[in-house]
Amino acid sequence: MALHLLERDRPGARALAAALTRAMDGIRHCSRCRGFSEDELCQTCADPGRDDSQICVVEFPADQIAIEQATSYRGRYFVLMGRLSPLDGIGPEELGMGQLAQRLGDSTLQEMIVATNATVEGEATAHYIAEMARRAKLKVTRLAQGVPLGGELEYLDRSTLARAFGARLVID
Ligand SMILES: [Zn+2]
Repeated sequence: MALHLLERDRPGARALAAALTRAMDGIRHCSRCRGFSEDELCQTCADPGRDDSQICVVEFPADQIAIEQATSYRGRYFVLMGRLSPLDGIGPEELGMGQLAQRLGDSTLQEMIVATNATVEGEATAHYIAEMARRAKLKVTRLAQGVPLGGELEYLDRSTLARAFGARLVID
């Protein structure tokens, strides 16, 4: 990337460097959802118009951005900033589970949407936080898994196809 910018776009590189410096100095973690923020609370947490009855738990800020761009979800978020990975020394404490437990105690909250990635660590993390939500007497939902749009069954991996088959929907 550095070589490409040196060759083709030096003004762009300077602007990018300045933007990165500003981000490094000014961006911290939102005190409520742990996502990136310039202020104490991020825009989503500070927005009084969002639905306090739902909390969507994601691994990284990029996951939150993807959901915001693709869906009409208007609830709240919690960003783990990672996933459970004992071999790498990442346990519940590193992921702010204490803070999440506090959020789950909020009386207006009704549903936790588990939106961790469909990887081994993501699944382990999903089980862990779903258990926390059940203990807090919340409804727990998770993203459906199955055939991607435009996908062909023949080329789908077996576990995805098996899961999609098992979770088939009624067509009305
Ligand atoms: Zn926030």
